[in-house]
Amino acid sequence: MNKMYKKGLVWCRRDYRLQDHHALFLAGQHCENVVVCFIFDTNILSHLDTTDQRIAFIIESLRELDDDLRGMGSKLVIRVGDPVEKCTEIITQFGIDALYFNRDYEPYALTRDQKIHNSVSIPVHTCKDSVIFEKDEVLTQKGAYYTVFTPYKNKWLSLLGKLPTFSTPTNFLPISEESSIHENRWFDLLGFDKKHPFLPGGRSQALRSLNQFTQWLDAYDEHRDFPHLNRTSNLSVYLRFGCVSIREMVKFCSPAKSKGAMIWLSELIWRDFYQMICHTHPNCNTKAIKPEYDRIQWLGSSEDFEAWCNGQTGYPIVDAAMRQLNTTGMMHNRCRMIVASFLCKTLLVDWRKGEAYFAKKLLDFDFASNNGGWAWASSSGCDAQPYFRIFNPYTQSQKFDSNGDYIRQYCTELSTIAAPLIHQPAELPGYPTPIVDYAINRQRALDMYAVVKQKV
Ligand SMILES: Cc1cc2nc3c(=O)[nH]c(=O)nc-3n(C[C@H](O)[C@H](O)[C@H](O)COP(=O)(O)OP(=O)(O)OC[C@H]3O[C@@H](n4cnc5c(N)ncnc54)[C@H](O)[C@@H]3O)c2cc1C
Repeated sequence: MNKMYKKGLVWCRRDYRLQDHHALFLAGQHCENVVVCFIFDTNILSHLDTTDQRIAFIIESLRELDDDLRGMGSKLVIRVGDPVEKCTEIITQFGIDALYFNRDYEPYALTRDQKIHNSVSIPVHTCKDSVIFEKDEVLTQKGAYYTVFTPYKNKWLSLLGKLPTFSTPTNFLPISEESSIHENRWFDLLGFDKKHPFLPGGRSQALRSLNQFTQWLDAYDEHRDFPHLNRTSNLSVYLRFGCVSIREMVKFCSPAKSKGAMIWLSELIWRDFYQMICHTHPNCNTKAIKPEYDRIQWLGSSEDFEAWCNGQTGYPIVDAAMRQLNTTGMMHNRCRMIVASFLCKTLLVDWRKGEAYFAKKLLDFDFASNNGGWAWASSSGCDAQPYFRIFNPYTQSQKFDSNGDYIRQYCTELSTIAAPLIHQPAELPGYPTPIVDYAINRQRALDMYAVVKQKV
């Protein structure tokens, strides 16, 4: 078959795999030879702490990607700097005549990709890869965007046909350059501490986790809310960096035969839903989706916010969850809901501060899911919980960590305290007394939020 181009460049951004990779597949079809590159984006890196675990995760994942490319007679081309400049340099250096990448819908990515379109003089092909349905592919009968999840999910399911699998090309270009992601110098070069991430990077670990999850999928509905059981898939970080594709995840559980599989599929649909919300609300990174929620005058203090960040609020379930986040870069979904509600509806702190803290700490940070989760917890988003629904941290703790096993794992000073005392410990040496009174602040929250009902 005659190819359209001699050399195609595939720029990986959040898709660290060679398998079921849409842009790579297309480049393989169109081009005689394919080059794969990754650019460490200094515009992003400059905002991260030097201890950020994501760098180690990325490096580990890219090393595996590079190994796979070497197995195919090529190598990962790697650069550090401004992505538009570096991409343009690679195009010139290798004599590339077409650029390929998978679409990324985050606000920063949209701007970056527009710059690329404007800067390069070769054809640019972009592909849908990280979601099942994007932009305006799931609409109501009247052609409007959905704002409520359940009808969106039903439409999504009705549109789900047979998903494609994008085969891996075999026509990679041999690369002779010396520099390699396997060298030890990368941590120093990028200015980050060398360490192992809490979850190992790479596709092989993603597939191991998916395989292990097979035994828990059918009981997902029963177990998913209990953080000490750790019976969710733990795949969010692998999905975030594209070590596994969303199509592989959906195929894994569908056609969903059990209730557990159906609920797990729903979680994947929530992910698409939040991506769609981002598309329809491009200002959701700064403004509440429901504008009346921007009238709220947040009463919380910066000291209380600090205590929340450091897991020192005196509320054991909240402290355990925040300490899990700070030490591992992960947090169970139930706990994310508890701490998010606690920040805005008990400590009365603007949810955007919590959103930014999660963005800094989460290994699986994904703009759309994080923004969606915070907008849900603070009641300011589409299909969010009503503002007067306020999680009681004590009852959440009793219900979802009844024996206190999760709390004891992260609040070691409570390691000898049994349930039920562990949920609401009286004064204990070494553990903070509650920084606010839940019952008093519940009423303050209702008063503070009342402004959203006022007509203007
Ligand atoms: C305040 C808040 C912030 C969040 N921030 C993020 C984030 O930055 N990145 C992120 O991936 N998820 C985020 N979530 C969603 C959810 O907590 C995580 O996806 C989940 O805990 C990851 O664990 P898992 O892979 O074991 O999930 P599983 O329970 O095994 O679910 C499977 C997959 O479905 C997706 N998913 C599950 N729940 C949700 C959800 N509520 N919204 C969107 N997608 C979901 C994830 O990709 C996940 O890997 C957030 C939730 C809240 C309440």
